[in-house]
Amino acid sequence: MVKLLIEPRLRGFICTTAHPVGCRKIVEEQVSRARRCSFRGPKSVLVIGASTGYGLASRIGAAFGAGAATCGVFFERPAEGERTASAGWYNTAAFGSLAGEEGLLVRNVNGDAFSAEIKKRTIDILRSDFPPVDLVIYSLASPRRTDPAGVTHRSVLKPIGKPFFGKTVQTDSGAVKEVAMEPATEEEIAGTVAVMGGADWLLWMEALREADVLAKGAKSVAYGYVGPELTWPIYRYGTIGRAKEDLEATVEKIDRILAPLCGKANISINKAVVTQASAAIPVVPLYVSLLFKFMKEEGSHEDCQDQMIRLFRERLYPTEPLPDCAVDDVGRIRLDEREMKPVLQEKIRQVWSAIETDNLSTLTDFAGYQFDFLRLFGFGVEGVNYDEAVESDVPLRGMP
Ligand code: NAD
Repeated sequence: MVKLLIEPRLRGFICTTAHPVGCRKIVEEQVSRARRCSFRGPKSVLVIGASTGYGLASRIGAAFGAGAATCGVFFERPAEGERTASAGWYNTAAFGSLAGEEGLLVRNVNGDAFSAEIKKRTIDILRSDFPPVDLVIYSLASPRRTDPAGVTHRSVLKPIGKPFFGKTVQTDSGAVKEVAMEPATEEEIAGTVAVMGGADWLLWMEALREADVLAKGAKSVAYGYVGPELTWPIYRYGTIGRAKEDLEATVEKIDRILAPLCGKANISINKAVVTQASAAIPVVPLYVSLLFKFMKEEGSHEDCQDQMIRLFRERLYPTEPLPDCAVDDVGRIRLDEREMKPVLQEKIRQVWSAIETDNLSTLTDFAGYQFDFLRLFGFGVEGVNYDEAVESDVPLRGMP
């Protein structure tokens, strides 16, 4: 038992500490929102990438909105000595205890989801005491992947074809800076596609189908992002965009795997939110700070949890006919229609070039960005006494 006084330790766009009590409170908030929006939804869900961001929000939505049994796969660090556990560990511990209190079935697998070993361990759990899975959420964001042949690929965030000159904000200092990035090499593009493209999603779905753990009508969803033109050189037309194209192209292959079950694969294009993964993308934190300002002003702001509740209620398991904006002309689910509203994007375009370090706090909601960023790690949460030493070694339930 180690009690620690835990403060945020920021290094660029990462925080190396996390607060167990703060993380728990945030999970509790997400849980109570999902409970309030109860809906007809999946009953047995596998979430790959379940401990933070969109994956955690999907898991909470499915469990507390629809009463689903959930099996979560993630790669998180337990506490060790003076070192806190990672935020995803504490989030999962909190989720497990809240779901347990409610009598919901919870299974967790901590390890490298890209590996054959973790796929096998997950399938063993699903076979032994889990109902047939009716929804598989694929929500990994990772800087590297070792493929089944043992080759390790790295993902980079770079433009393709020509250098990128733009601006970004340093999220710890609030300094607005020009960035210049050289285009990715062919090897870097291929590496990013190997990590963040569809290859591993396909391997998961093949393995799950072969193991016969999927229910009739099973669905699978992976998450993508489109965003506005000002992010395209680094996002949509960059290495990550190339990987997302590959992910989207994988839908057809997974549809073939699910066809005998009358199942369906989908990409859901989600809104930009603050997560550990999005904080690492140049330009995005500055864009998000501006986006949040305008969306909050017009009352259309959403976080991961709002988006995932909408995904279940209004897109995957609707009780009413889908609105026109729900699916685009290439068949992707759209949850970003509020972000992409032309009037709002025009406002962003008009202000973008004027943003500098001195006017950052007035022109954008950078304070809101920083607030959300710290909360990813359990800091800045109302009602938590950060001057009190807390138990850092928190157990996970539902581990095999
Ligand atoms: P995140 O960093 O919050 O979550 C990543 C998850 O992946 C965590 O649960 C982590 O434990 C898990 N993970 C990473 N490497 C792993 C590994 N090797 N084995 C097992 N688990 C591993 O990221 P996020 O922003 O929620 O992103 C999830 C997906 O949503 C991504 O595909 C991302 O592109 C997409 N998306 C994000 C945004 C955004 O604004 N954040 C917008 C649209 C779409």
